Amino acid sequence: MVTKSDEKAMTDLLRRIPSVDELLGDKTLQQLESELGHRIVVQAARSVLQGLREGITSGKIREFSAAALAEEISAAARDLAAYSLAPVINATGVILHTNLGRAPLAAKAVEHIGKIAGRYSNLEYDLGEGRRGKRDTHTDSLFAELTGAERTLVVNNNAAAVFLTLNALAEGGEVIVSRGELIEIGGSFRIPDICAKSGARLREVGTTNRTRLADYAGAINENTRALMRVHPSNFRVVGFTERPELAELADLAHRHHLPLIEDLGSGCLIDLRPLGIQDEPPVGASLKAGVDVVTFSGDKLLGGPQAGLICGRKEFLDRVRRNPLFRALRVDKLTIAALEATVRLYLDGTIDAVPALRMMRLPLEELTTRATWLAEKVRQNSSFSTEVEEGASVVGGGSTPGQSLPTRLVAVRHDRLSAQELEAALRENLPPVIARVERDRLLLDPRTVSEEQDAQIVQAFERVK
Ligand SMILES: *Cc1c(COP(=O)(O)O)cnc(C)c1O
Repeated sequence: MVTKSDEKAMTDLLRRIPSVDELLGDKTLQQLESELGHRIVVQAARSVLQGLREGITSGKIREFSAAALAEEISAAARDLAAYSLAPVINATGVILHTNLGRAPLAAKAVEHIGKIAGRYSNLEYDLGEGRRGKRDTHTDSLFAELTGAERTLVVNNNAAAVFLTLNALAEGGEVIVSRGELIEIGGSFRIPDICAKSGARLREVGTTNRTRLADYAGAINENTRALMRVHPSNFRVVGFTERPELAELADLAHRHHLPLIEDLGSGCLIDLRPLGIQDEPPVGASLKAGVDVVTFSGDKLLGGPQAGLICGRKEFLDRVRRNPLFRALRVDKLTIAALEATVRLYLDGTIDAVPALRMMRLPLEELTTRATWLAEKVRQNSSFSTEVEEGASVVGGGSTPGQSLPTRLVAVRHDRLSAQELEAALRENLPPVIARVERDRLLLDPRTVSEEQDAQIVQAFERVK
């Protein structure tokens, strides 16, 4: 029940609420204003005052002080001024974590973006001829050297690459795909849906586990425009399985004057088997086997910026390039800058400069040393107990399913907080630390953490209250 005296106290309290102008006279807020700007501080003050008013009228707030208000406004202003897109520390051990931005770029790529971003460039200007050029030229010959492709086009991402390729080469006709390859990649990329939107009719052949060359051959008719192979990036069919070799499929397509298209998904530029990563065929191997058009992502195993690469025979690539959708799906100069710089590292043989590849190649001894150091440092705060244990990192990004890289994990427990609470507290750190929780322990994998971030992680634990 609200009594008369309650009501009076409330009215008094409401009357005491300072105006925004009065608040901005405060010394700390004036200093904040010079740092963050008038607009943000006023916006923060308004929202804090509104919260105060609501709190008083609902009876939740019965007292307040000017000093506490100023502090609340400072915090709100800093929140408003902070960038929404901000760096985080990835301690999950998932190298190509799609939610965390997939591949971190190489320092050379970042440097080159910095050079190009704030200036004019020869993006579409032929310096030799002094007239309009094409933005594809900057990476075309580099991919030719690395993969043997006659031409390479760059679009927004691999989903766009598949869509554009099907639209340009198969619209109004049929494209033949094995039932075992009608895949879905996370985030609603489904081969049947992309195919339908591209205007090509999907002609499914074979079964989920077995598709033979004769199945493709039997489905070819006068409406067929292409044969398509899709890399089952994020799953494996094992056991009683069969599918034709790429070279056989290419041969069949070519006998019918049709192109063979392959969506490779991750698409690596080098053989990753020495790193223990099987089943990720290099782009060059597909082209060599006779595939006419290969599509893949720029930010998966390649370790570059978000992009979709379309590599292959000139005759088909020219048709893709002339398609009006190419313009709608093209990439900007920053992507081209990052891609050119990344691909050059492969040509220079300095692939350890590509962070995603370096993380895959980190030796177990190095991971053990860093995990041990982290475990010791975190344990120095007596609230934490830590252990170093064997575990597995994953490549992620919808590549190399069922395969993992052996690593050393730091398992952390807190004497009062649950693993979930600890995980949430680390997410609130600046920079946020993203970790895994398993069997009520927080797990940190040093593989995806850069060495200079090790100390930041220790700090984040020190700040946990
Ligand atoms: C990842 C993937 C895609 C989508 O690539 P994005 O670059 O994320 O658009 C398409 N097909 C396959 C087989 C993939 O693995």
